[in-house]
Amino acid sequence: MRFATKAIHVGSEPMPPTGTVTPPIYMTSTYSQKDQQTYDYARGVNPTREALERNLASLEDATHALAFSSGMGAITTLTTLLKKGDHVVVTDDCYGGVHRIFTRILSAYGIESTFVDMRDLVDVEDVMGPDTRMVWIESPTNPLLKVLDLRELAVIAKAHEAISVCDNTFASPALQNPLKWGVDVVVHSATKYLGGHADVLGGALVLNRADLFDRLKFAQNAIGAVPSPFDAWLILRGIKTLDVRIERQCDNAAALAKLLHDHPAVAKVHYPGLPDDEGHRLAAKQMRRFGGMLSFELKDPRGAVERLRRAQVVLLAESLGGVESLIEHPWSMTHASVPPEQRSRQGITEALVRMSVGLEDIDDLTEDVERILA
Ligand SMILES: *Cc1c(COP(=O)(O)O)cnc(C)c1O
Repeated sequence: MRFATKAIHVGSEPMPPTGTVTPPIYMTSTYSQKDQQTYDYARGVNPTREALERNLASLEDATHALAFSSGMGAITTLTTLLKKGDHVVVTDDCYGGVHRIFTRILSAYGIESTFVDMRDLVDVEDVMGPDTRMVWIESPTNPLLKVLDLRELAVIAKAHEAISVCDNTFASPALQNPLKWGVDVVVHSATKYLGGHADVLGGALVLNRADLFDRLKFAQNAIGAVPSPFDAWLILRGIKTLDVRIERQCDNAAALAKLLHDHPAVAKVHYPGLPDDEGHRLAAKQMRRFGGMLSFELKDPRGAVERLRRAQVVLLAESLGGVESLIEHPWSMTHASVPPEQRSRQGITEALVRMSVGLEDIDDLTEDVERILA
């Protein structure tokens, strides 16, 4: 089966005796073990969650997937593969919550982390040490849409016997499959493109390695950050339209990126689909299309948030990946918790605006962008 078909059918196979086309939501915390022993307690196992997990694995062409209550739930569970004394190398442009968990939580457990601009593979090699056990990749990155070389980074990790991880939230499995490039574990915040309707939180880990899967399956139950059956069902429903949603999002984002690129009020556009974008060639190699996320720098950063309030259709909000377009100011919103000097080093300035492009009519989106820039 091809991607769009798998997204619709895997995990939703008609069930006897009724032939349900949509899987039931198993709202139960425990199971009678009189006649079966497979199902014991719902933190460990739930049929609705299993349906979602089978679907998630198929989207990444993987053998295993685990579903979680949020992206951070998935990420926290994944970090149980680390132990005291281990070192992690992380992309400097990572999701804020990932920065926070490594620097404010895991540091207290004796796990060290180094943040590096992973576009430079020599810099990555330089910070790899004898205790480096994990390489944390995100591509395209948030909010600057940097494109990282998944294959080369997976090779570096492997050479140092470190687990390579790729947060694939921004691309979604519709556009990029990191396992194909040699990455060990894929992370998703299902809250974004997978759910797709800004109505549910969820997370996932997807992988082929059976050794890691056994440890993570154990940790999923031990930590307990599992989705409710209803949340699992909502995400499964969202995924059915992922393929068509993302096509429209890519079309709209490409059109807006071009408009912004040619606009006199804009200093720079970050979108890998633009031919003069630094990540364009690499993105063309490892992604199917260039995605629905973009960011841009205003020539005049003054009153940036006030400008964003002029939009009539696009919502001023954090998060991304839904049917509705969202716009935000990373400096004062999503990335406000990153220390100012690090924000500046990374290139997150007060002039930067990030946009998650939705499925609205492109003419309405264009008018809103014109209003913001006027
Ligand atoms: C949102 C997000 C997360 C965290 O996911 P939650 O579902 O909010 O816990 C992790 N990584 C990226 C890239 C994200 O955008």
